[in-house]
Amino acid sequence: MSNDPGGGGRLFVVSAPSGTGKTTVVERLVQVVPGLTMSRSYTSREARAGERDGIDYNFVSRPAFEAMVGRGEFLEYADVFGNYYGTRRADAEHLMASGKDVVLVIDVQGAGQVRATGIPLVTIFVLPPSFDVLEQRLRGRGKDSDAAIRRRLDTARAEVAAYEEYEYVVVNDDLDACVTSMRSIIQAARVTCARVRPRADAIVKTFGALPVGPA
Ligand code: 5GP
Repeated sequence: MSNDPGGGGRLFVVSAPSGTGKTTVVERLVQVVPGLTMSRSYTSREARAGERDGIDYNFVSRPAFEAMVGRGEFLEYADVFGNYYGTRRADAEHLMASGKDVVLVIDVQGAGQVRATGIPLVTIFVLPPSFDVLEQRLRGRGKDSDAAIRRRLDTARAEVAAYEEYEYVVVNDDLDACVTSMRSIIQAARVTCARVRPRADAIVKTFGALPVGPA
């Protein structure tokens, strides 16, 4: 509790295998939950058709990414499917300092790195309903080659096995239901004792009593 950031925003980490629909879920979530925003990642992968630099990702070259790594600019980064992806520390800190709750949509390796920093965070894993459904979704979206799809499915096998490292697990078998569950998790995280403490202490003081503090 003592290491809670207090007045600043809270960090949420969402991981899920590629194709689970986590981006759609989180994009919906930030629309319906006030004060919640997504941090934009950096990646060295090529932009797909329709993706915009500075909106979907900050697209940078491999050398530029590696230079950022060298300067210690990343809160976390990972090599996923042969490309780098990372969250710039200053971006996340700036958003949190403005009082916003920030969602990082990152892979299992990146989530482990953020956990290791000791920053208070809430972690959510989104599971697809089954392997077959994930495969259908990856093939259906027609974004990747057959080889890329097979690579994503292999990675998915390893990723789903890590679900127990997360505090919350939500199955995306229905988009609305998934968004509703995630919204509940965020709302609950906003009213934990540690989170509410500054306001609660001020209220308790109006009673002329001093807070007792945790046992
Ligand atoms: P995609 O290429 O489909 O956009 O993303 C591939 C994978 O990279 C997804 O699992 C996604 O969660 C992960 N990813 C996206 N941004 C980041 C990031 O900033 N850090 C890490 N560690 N993974 C990321």
